Amino acid sequence: MTELLSNHLGGRWQAGTGAGTALRDPVLGHELVHVDAAGLDLAAGFAFAREQGGAALRALDYRERAALLGAVSRVLQANRDAYYDIATANSGTVRNDSAVDIDGGIFTLGTYAKLGDGLGARRFLLDGEAARLGKEPLFQSQHVLAPTRGVALLINAFNFPAWGLWEKAAPALLSGVPVIVKPATATAWLTQRMVRDVIEAGILPPGALSVVCGSAAGLLDQLQPFDVVSFTGSADTAALIRSHAAVTRRSVRVNIEADSVNSALLLPGEAAGGEAFDLLVREAAREMTVKSGQKCTAIRRIFVPAALYGAAAEAIGARLRKTTVGNPRHDAVRMGALVSRAQLDTVREGLAYLREQAEVLHDGATHALVDADPAVACCVGPTLLGVRDADGADGADRVHDTEVFGPVATLVPYRDAAHALALVRRGQGSLVASLYGSDAAALAAAAVALADSHGRVHVVSPEVGQSHTGHGNVMPQSLHGGPGRAGGGEELGGLRALNFYHRRSAVQAGTGVLAQL
Ligand code: NAP
Repeated sequence: MTELLSNHLGGRWQAGTGAGTALRDPVLGHELVHVDAAGLDLAAGFAFAREQGGAALRALDYRERAALLGAVSRVLQANRDAYYDIATANSGTVRNDSAVDIDGGIFTLGTYAKLGDGLGARRFLLDGEAARLGKEPLFQSQHVLAPTRGVALLINAFNFPAWGLWEKAAPALLSGVPVIVKPATATAWLTQRMVRDVIEAGILPPGALSVVCGSAAGLLDQLQPFDVVSFTGSADTAALIRSHAAVTRRSVRVNIEADSVNSALLLPGEAAGGEAFDLLVREAAREMTVKSGQKCTAIRRIFVPAALYGAAAEAIGARLRKTTVGNPRHDAVRMGALVSRAQLDTVREGLAYLREQAEVLHDGATHALVDADPAVACCVGPTLLGVRDADGADGADRVHDTEVFGPVATLVPYRDAAHALALVRRGQGSLVASLYGSDAAALAAAAVALADSHGRVHVVSPEVGQSHTGHGNVMPQSLHGGPGRAGGGEELGGLRALNFYHRRSAVQAGTGVLAQL
């Protein structure tokens, strides 16, 4: 039996009492460690976090909590090599893809440490200006934001065990709210190791950071009215959480980041081989292959003017052909594995489903695996699908509805700008759309036109060709989340992230009292 990863709950390390679940190497197939959360006293653990962790965090001001985040990021920085080893073994990712998760998480922590420092020695936040309530100016209303006196239960997806933890935990801890993280079982090891390192470094007060690895059973039952849940994962699990009694009866606040059929759009008027065209091609191929397409923000639909369909198919296909797939430990390999055999099967099923409405422009099955056994490794080459004509794009409902969580995207031709925007909106709300073009006015108009249905619109024009941060990279300064099928959530966005962990209240009082706030 491999090592059993401990849970940290109630201020101490606790082993589960069940048989446990094995975590595997998705390339070599062997068991790495196992996790188990059976038999934990969840009620006591949640109470400890809420009472001890919460009180200790709230006793600090924003600047002091920001300093804790800075100290946490330095501990993680010092242990980076171990995290890379775990990511290679458990997620099957090449070094650059592990960096998106590990260094992305550390960067996000560092950003919140800086932002929090700027909030100074306060213990609550003012929200806007005081407003006069009547003719008489003496009596006014001042909105304040106070840290919620509960725990933040963070439930994460398998694809970002590091970043997924810290992009949620950093705003929560900065707000003064203790965190209990439940990583996805398949890749829980990296989350557990990071939490372990931070706990052992003794930076955070007892109860501020807990981790439960293994089944989610019973976690939601512990939630009390001032607790919050921040969830990232599938729409099906999101629906279970939304309908749980804690949410429906105790008004527990929930943030949902779910799946999303994101778009990239080349605006009309660009030439094949032109700068904007090339930027779209580069980004589409990159987004399909980074983390083997297992990114919630990855480009799933690529929209081009109908006249450029053939040229775009050829150019994106040419880049994909060069992608070497296989064992991430091999120097020549650029794209590693999917996370598990189950995900490999799901991706193959999704591909077959889409292929009934699309042609294959570049077939991932043509990629021979490097240093990996196809019977064992969860590796698959990138596949570009296409809908041949613009009229067909309207009828290809599966392309607009289906997120295949792997290296798969579909090229879709459009007739004119209005048609393109209508097709993008068929995604029913997405995390991100990227726009490519050289006409600043047309790009700005399209960005605003898509703002209501997208959490983020990433605009790439030739002058930012080298400096833009990438369609799929989630920057802590910008909002992450999307309306509709993307879950309706909001994370990050700089200090906006703190709203979720605070309660807003209107203090109505005389100006003398309000001046004391
Ligand atoms: P998932 O199966 O929904 O699992 C997500 C998390 O929920 C895991 O920690 C899982 O634990 C837990 N969970 C499962 N059943 C639960 C229940 N009844 N109550 C509470 N928690 C429960 O999703 P996934 O397969 O890990 O992730 C892939 C999906 O996430 C994709 O659709 C992707 O688009 C989406 N995603 C979205 C974002 C975003 O920011 N919007 C980011 C990344 C991924 P176990 O692992 O133990 O089952």
